[in-house]
Amino acid sequence: MSAPSAASSLPVAVFLSPEPARRDAFRHGCGGRFLRLLVVESAEQAAELMASESVDLLVLELEGYNRGLDLAALGQLVVSASGHNTAVLAVCPFTHASWIPALNRYGPVDYAIAPLLDEAMCDVAAEHLQRGGSAATPASLRALLAVRTRMQDAIADIDDLARMPARVCATLASFPGVAHAALFEMKASDDLQLVGQAGKDGLDMERLLGPAAERARSPWRHAFPGLVAALSGELCLLDAPEKAGEPELAMNLLTQDIHMVLGIPVRLSGGAERGSICLMFEQQHWFSPEDFATLAALAQLAGFALRTAEMARDTEQLAAQVTRLATTDALTGVANRRRGEELLMQEARRARRYHAPLALIAFDIDRFRQVNDRYGHAVGDLALRTVAAVVGGVLRSSDQLVRTGGETFAVIAPHTSAIDGLKVAEKIRAAVAGTDFAGCDRLTISAGVGQLTGDEDPDKLTLRVDAALARAKRAGRNCVELAMS
Ligand code: GH3
Ligand code: MG
Repeated sequence: MSAPSAASSLPVAVFLSPEPARRDAFRHGCGGRFLRLLVVESAEQAAELMASESVDLLVLELEGYNRGLDLAALGQLVVSASGHNTAVLAVCPFTHASWIPALNRYGPVDYAIAPLLDEAMCDVAAEHLQRGGSAATPASLRALLAVRTRMQDAIADIDDLARMPARVCATLASFPGVAHAALFEMKASDDLQLVGQAGKDGLDMERLLGPAAERARSPWRHAFPGLVAALSGELCLLDAPEKAGEPELAMNLLTQDIHMVLGIPVRLSGGAERGSICLMFEQQHWFSPEDFATLAALAQLAGFALRTAEMARDTEQLAAQVTRLATTDALTGVANRRRGEELLMQEARRARRYHAPLALIAFDIDRFRQVNDRYGHAVGDLALRTVAAVVGGVLRSSDQLVRTGGETFAVIAPHTSAIDGLKVAEKIRAAVAGTDFAGCDRLTISAGVGQLTGDEDPDKLTLRVDAALARAKRAGRNCVELAMS
């Protein structure tokens, strides 16, 4: 930056704003602070002035500019200011702080956060010339490096994904000056959830901002940086609570001794899904370009962490669904034959370990072929589903109903002796015989019952029980037979 012009200790300044009212206000309010104050409405005019005379300070009033449309022109202005040794002060609305890192890519730019009263604006401009941009120190850079490394460690621990948001927040809370950090994630279009927070004891974001259900529609969505960033995708820097124009929010923050809040948007997937990092400070903190670059990297890593956790949850759900499909009979919803064999092995092992009885019941619908022949396959299918539902209704929760074949089922009954198994089978027989089946006549079942003996192989028990079922059929059907040992 050049020293204020030799003719006077007062500097020469250019003030750029597309808004006539802002230009007038600055000219009237701050004109006296400068040797010469040149007020312009376009970047070209500002560039011409800097080329033709020595300008100490260029103030960019960003209210009224659109970052998408105007960044390139204003960036070029920063480049030429840097070439002319002109200091640049960008004044940006608190909800649009993304301007700062964006302009920083073109050259050194100091910033002030609007809204500012005209008087305060003049003070900031004057102060800025004295202070200049604070350069990063080795210690501050080391601190930033430490946060980046901690964040990488926090997200590398993929064995404990459930605690990932908490680890990410604890890391964010170690950013220089941060008293409390929180992480928001947009779960659905109006469901903005707080997924983690860390830092100040006694500061609870839920209490500060109200319940999740109302957050995305809260009047503070335009005021609280964590919400603004998640909902608009904009960096939001509230450097004084009262600037947001929400007295109750300002009071809540000040009660917690929070004087500055930064919201950084987090991309959660390639599309529109967003979240945010919210950092709260007890004191003013001036952000260097290195700070902004680190915050952008932390936001990317946090987004990656949340996506990883989400993907792991999806994978788990998918795996559970695959297992369910592979082990469930599609028609009746009860365990299929393969699952039944596994369950019988498991229960046999358990019964032996605890010296507990285990009963197996096999039952088969009597003359089921006739049902299909008379009423059609669809009615037969419905009857099978009804049998499964009726039988499921009379079993204990520890009993497992299995569809072992077309119209054959089994019940694995832990802690059940042969005598008790006979009672269960009888209950099943009576329940089916007493059921009205839609679209067809009454149905009955025949059953065989056996109890696992000593070190008997479960397959052997199955054979014995099937033989008992065959005897029940021969005995005239609609009855129960006990398996021989
Ligand atoms: P039994 O009293 O001796 O058991 O006579 P059954 O007619 O029930 O026995 P059989 O083994 O002769 O016939 C079984 C019938 O079960 C044959 C088949 O049409 C029917 N079935 C098997 N699976 C299904 C199914 O998934 N849906 C329908 N609708 N019918 C099935
Ligand atoms: Mg049958």
